[in-house]
Amino acid sequence: MTSKKKKLYEGKAKVLYSTDNSYCVIQHFKDEATAFNAKKKETIEGKGVLNNFLSEFFMQKLNSINIPTHFIKRLNMREQLVEKCEIIPLEVVVRNIAAGSLSKRLGIQEGTRLARPIVEFYYKDDSLNDPLVTESQITTFEWASETELGEIFEIALRTNDFLSGLLLAVDLTLVDFKIEIGRSLKSEGDKLIIADEISPDTCRLWDSKTKKRLDKDVFRLNKGSIAVAYTEVANRFDLLPKNVKSAVK
Ligand code: ADP
Ligand code: UDP
Repeated sequence: MTSKKKKLYEGKAKVLYSTDNSYCVIQHFKDEATAFNAKKKETIEGKGVLNNFLSEFFMQKLNSINIPTHFIKRLNMREQLVEKCEIIPLEVVVRNIAAGSLSKRLGIQEGTRLARPIVEFYYKDDSLNDPLVTESQITTFEWASETELGEIFEIALRTNDFLSGLLLAVDLTLVDFKIEIGRSLKSEGDKLIIADEISPDTCRLWDSKTKKRLDKDVFRLNKGSIAVAYTEVANRFDLLPKNVKSAVK
């Protein structure tokens, strides 16, 4: 039995609790949805449950092909046990198709397939609106070393290849996604692992045939219910317990 001890951190979408094992934390998924640096905010019943199941699924699949993640096990409908790590303060974004801030900033039409995947780094700081940063800034300010940066590129691109295939098999196109990476505390910082979450909150997923959006853009752009959209993603992988209604409560 893993018992929750004290609340370590409460963010916009999740709460972290310490456990009796100093290498593990419990991640609790909340129902709050935020966008535009929390300027748009809403409670969406069931979102936490859906992201808990979806993140478990994607992280477990990555673990199984030796892309290490923090995921250890799901504890209940809203919580999972994960390996505690020292988060590198970067949002690592990989893009296959132009959308969102890339389209806006560079005037590239949304939906344009990129000649090859683009990897971008944003400095994780809400008070600065998570600004786009360069590799040179990352190493100069020592957010990550050059060796780590090389590994981060490799993890990001391998994750992209693998998840793109996994999603395409259920007619979902991985347009772009964000991951966070941490230094494992067990290895004195030598080993990097994927942390945080991988879910429709952190990925753009379009139906491959209809181009229907099944991700947080539904919320950002007021295009319907994200609970319905995320349930559709989970159902394509058959992830939810039989009674979906009780699953998303
Ligand atoms: P935010 O901080 O942007 O509001 P969340 O509500 O998702 O976001 O908060 C989760 C926090 O937990 C994030 O700051 C994330 O970097 C951190 N985190 C995620 N996984 C781990 C982990 N395995 N170990 C330590 N911290 C983690
Ligand atoms: N993303 C995220 N958290 C953030 C910013 C972006 O998970 O704080 C994800 C987003 O859902 C998308 C990808 O990263 O899948 C690229 O996002 P983009 O830079 O286009 O920013 P957006 O316009 O979505 O804020």
